[in-house]
Amino acid sequence: MLNNLLKRLRKPLALEPIPALKMAGEDISQSTLDELLNAKTRLSAIYNASFDAISMLGDDGFIEGNRAAMALFGCANLDEFCRHHPIDLSPATQACGTDSKTLSQHYIDLTLKNGSCRFEWLYHRADNGIVFVTEVMLSSLEVNGATIIQCVHHDLTGRRKTEANLATKKKKNKALKKTLYEQALFNSKFKETSVLQDAIFNSHSFSSIATDAQGVIQIFNVGAEAMLGYSAAEVINIFTPAYLSDQNELNARADILSQEFGVTISSGFEALVYKAALGIEDIYELTYLCKNGTRLLAQVSVTALRDENAAIIGYLLIGIDHTEQTTIKIAARQQLKTLSLALEQSQSGVMIADLNNNIEYINQAFINSLGYIREDIIGQNPRRVISGKTIEKTYVDMWAALNEGRAWQGELINLNKQGEEIVEQTWISPIRQEDGTISHYLSVKDNITERKQKDAELIAAKERSENLAKTKTQFLANMSHEIRTPMNAIIGFSELALLEDMPPKVNDYLQNINVASNHLLIILNDILDLSKLEAGQMGLNLGPFSLYDLQTTLYNLFSNTAQSKGLVLNIDIASDVPDYLIGDSIRLRQVLINLLGNGIKFTSQGTVALNISLQHFDDQQAKLLFAVTDSGIGITLEQQAKLFLPFSQVDDGYTRNYEGTGLGLVISQDLVQLMGSIIKVESYLGISSCFSFELQLPIAPLSTLAGIETPSSTVQSALRTETAALNGIKILVAEDDGLNQIIIRQVLKHLGASFIMMANNGSEVLSALEQDDFDVVLMDLHMPIMNGYDAAIEIRKLRRYAQLPIIALSAGITDEDKQRCMAAGMNDVMAKPINVEVLLSILAQWLKQ
Ligand code: ADP
Repeated sequence: MLNNLLKRLRKPLALEPIPALKMAGEDISQSTLDELLNAKTRLSAIYNASFDAISMLGDDGFIEGNRAAMALFGCANLDEFCRHHPIDLSPATQACGTDSKTLSQHYIDLTLKNGSCRFEWLYHRADNGIVFVTEVMLSSLEVNGATIIQCVHHDLTGRRKTEANLATKKKKNKALKKTLYEQALFNSKFKETSVLQDAIFNSHSFSSIATDAQGVIQIFNVGAEAMLGYSAAEVINIFTPAYLSDQNELNARADILSQEFGVTISSGFEALVYKAALGIEDIYELTYLCKNGTRLLAQVSVTALRDENAAIIGYLLIGIDHTEQTTIKIAARQQLKTLSLALEQSQSGVMIADLNNNIEYINQAFINSLGYIREDIIGQNPRRVISGKTIEKTYVDMWAALNEGRAWQGELINLNKQGEEIVEQTWISPIRQEDGTISHYLSVKDNITERKQKDAELIAAKERSENLAKTKTQFLANMSHEIRTPMNAIIGFSELALLEDMPPKVNDYLQNINVASNHLLIILNDILDLSKLEAGQMGLNLGPFSLYDLQTTLYNLFSNTAQSKGLVLNIDIASDVPDYLIGDSIRLRQVLINLLGNGIKFTSQGTVALNISLQHFDDQQAKLLFAVTDSGIGITLEQQAKLFLPFSQVDDGYTRNYEGTGLGLVISQDLVQLMGSIIKVESYLGISSCFSFELQLPIAPLSTLAGIETPSSTVQSALRTETAALNGIKILVAEDDGLNQIIIRQVLKHLGASFIMMANNGSEVLSALEQDDFDVVLMDLHMPIMNGYDAAIEIRKLRRYAQLPIIALSAGITDEDKQRCMAAGMNDVMAKPINVEVLLSILAQWLKQ
C-alpha cells in the first residue's frame, strides 16, 4: 500500500517551477502571479534557512530537501540527496534493536493513519558514514489530491553530547562521593559490616557529613538532615561543618589543640579536623547549631579521607545525637554515685565474690563487723572467716540453692579478726549479667551477735518467768490445799457446834466464826481462781443445768442480806428463756454471785435486780442477756476504766467503807471471756450501775437432764437431808487431817453409814482393805507415806477390788488432777468441802453398779 502511495506521489511532487495556476476557471492576473512568485521566494528562503532538515519522501526515496537536510545527511546537492532513500542512510537496526526497515514502515503507517508521528531515528551520513541521532516528525500532506509525506529531522547530536557530558559529570560526582564513602568506611571505626554502612549513611540516627579537602560539605545524609534540620541542597557546596557548629566551642578547641600541638589553629574547621588530619582517631562532643536555632549535643567521630597516595581528599564527620545519652549518662552517674554511697554507708555488710569465690568487693560495714582491713579480705576466699560452728547442713543448703541459681538466706557463725565468733544473718544471691549468666555472688550480712545474745537472754527470762508462774501456781495450789483443809474444819465444826445447844453468847461467837471463815474461804478461792486464770489453767466444766435452780440459789443466797439493807431484790427470768441449758453452771453462778453481791454491797436503797432475757433462739442454742442492775452509788467513767484491773478498787477513799479484795470483777470478766463473751458496764454516778453480758448456750437435750445437780453447799444442808441414806454401807475414808476426819465421819454417820473406817494414808488404806471388805473408798489425794493416786493403783492390782468404787476427795481439783485420778483407776472425783447431795448422788451411782 505504501509503495502504491509513494508511486502516486512521485509524479505530482513539484514545488518548482510553479505552473501558471488557474483558479475556478478564471485567468490569474499578472499582479496575482507576481504576488504568488514573491510568496514562493519568501517561503523558499524560510525553507532553506531552517536549522531543521526538511524533506519530502516519495516512493523511491527523497524527492525534495532543504539545505539543512543536505548538510545533515552529508550530500553535496539536491540531486545527490534525492538519490537516497531514508533506509539507505539508516543503520541496519535502530537503538531499540528493531531493524530499520520494519520500523520505518511502522512509522509511515502511523503517519498515514494519524496525520503525523514523532520519533527518534539513527542515520549515518552519506559522505563519511558517521552515525547521528535525529528527532523525526512525519506529517502527511494533501497536494493536488495526492498525499505526500513531509519529514522534519532535528539533529539531536549536540543535545546528546551535552547530556552525555552531564552524565559523565554526574558519574564523576557519584564516583567522588563513592570514594568519599568508601574512604570514609575504610577509615571509619564502623567499617566492619555492611549493616553498619547502612546504619551510617542511610540511617536517620547518624549524621554523616563528608567534606572535600577544603572542608566544603559534599555529602549530607538523611541523618544529618533529620538532626540539623537543613536539607542536603541547602548545605552541599555551600557550608563547612564549622559553620553549623558552636563557634565558641570551636575556638576553645582550637586553643587547646594549639597548646597541645604547639601550632596555631586559626579556623574553626581546622579545629574540627586537626587531629583527624594527623591520623589520630578523634571522637569528641560537638554542639551543632540546627536550622531552627536549637543546639544539639552530638558525639562526633572525625576521620580524614585519603586517596591511594594517602593524600587527604576530604573529611568525614559521623555524629550521633548525644543529648539523651548525656542526660542518661548524668543520671546514671548520679545513680551510680548514690548506689555506691548507699553501699558504703549501709549498716549491713556487703560482699561481692566471683564464681571462684574470690572476694572482689566489701563495704565499710563488712570491714567494721569483721575487724579486718580491706586488703586482708579482697581476693581471699570467704572461707577465711568461717568458724566451723555453723552446722554443716546450712552450707549444704546454701550451695544447693546457689548452684541452682536461687538466692539463699540463713544464719552463719563466722570469726572476726580477733577470733571471736559473730553470728551473721546472711542473704546470698547470684548476680546475673544481661545474658542471664551468673558472674558473681552478692552477700549481704547483718551482724546479729548482740541480738542473738539478747534473744537468748529473753528466752531464758521468759522460761524463768514461766517457771516462776508455774511455781507460783503450784505454790498457790498447795497453799490453798493447806489452808482449805483447816478452813473446812473450822467451817464444819462451827456448823456442827451451832447445831448443839449453846448459851446465846457462845452461839453468837460460833455464828461469827462461821461467817468470817466462809468469807475467808471466798477470798481464798478468788486468789486461787485468779492465779489459775492468769496461768491459763482454768478450764470450763460443761454440763446441763437449770436456770431456775440457779435463780433459786441466788435468791436464797442474797435475799436475807438485801432484806436486811432494806433493798428490793429481783431475780427475773423472761418467760421465753429455756430452762435447761448446757454450760459451766458453777462458774456462771460465781460470776452472777459476784455481780449481785457488788450490787447489794454498793447500794443503800432501792432495787438490785438480775434480769435474764432471750436475745436469740434456735433449736439448738439460746443467746441470753444477763443484766445486773442496781440503784447504788454508781461509777464514774474514769473509774470504769479501772474496773477490770486486778486488785483495783475504783476509789480507795470510799471503797474502804466496803469490804472486798478488788478481784471479783477481774475473775468474773476472765470467766465470761472464757465462756466467749465480755462483761459491759453502764453506770451513772450516784444513780445506777448495770453490769451485763451475753452468753450463747446450747439447749440441753432431754436425755441429759437426769443427772442435773441441784444446789446445795454446806454441811448444814447435809444434816437437813434424810438420815438413813447410807444405811448398811461400809465406807473406808482416807484422810490425813484429823479435823477433816471428824467432820466427814460426822456427816457419813448422820447419813446412816453402818461402818466408817479412817485411814491416815494410802498404805493404811491397803492394810484396811486386807483386813475387811468395804463398799466404797473415799480417797483424799494428798497424803503422807502413800498418796491417793498410788493407793488407787495398788488397790486395782488386787483382783477382788477390781470393781470397788473409789471416789477421790480433794480441795481444789484441777482438770489435770481429774485425769490423773481416772488414770490411777478411780471412779469419780468430788471437791471438798463436801457437798452432801453431790456425795449422795455419786455414791448412789457407783454403789448401784
Ligand atoms: P470488790 O468488790 O471485791 O472490791 P470487785 O472486782 O468486785 O472487787 O469490784 C471492784 C470495784 O469496782 C469495787 O471495789 C467498787 O469500787 C467497784 N464496783 C463494782 N461493782 C460496783 C457497783 N455495782 N456499784 C458501784 N461500784 C462498783
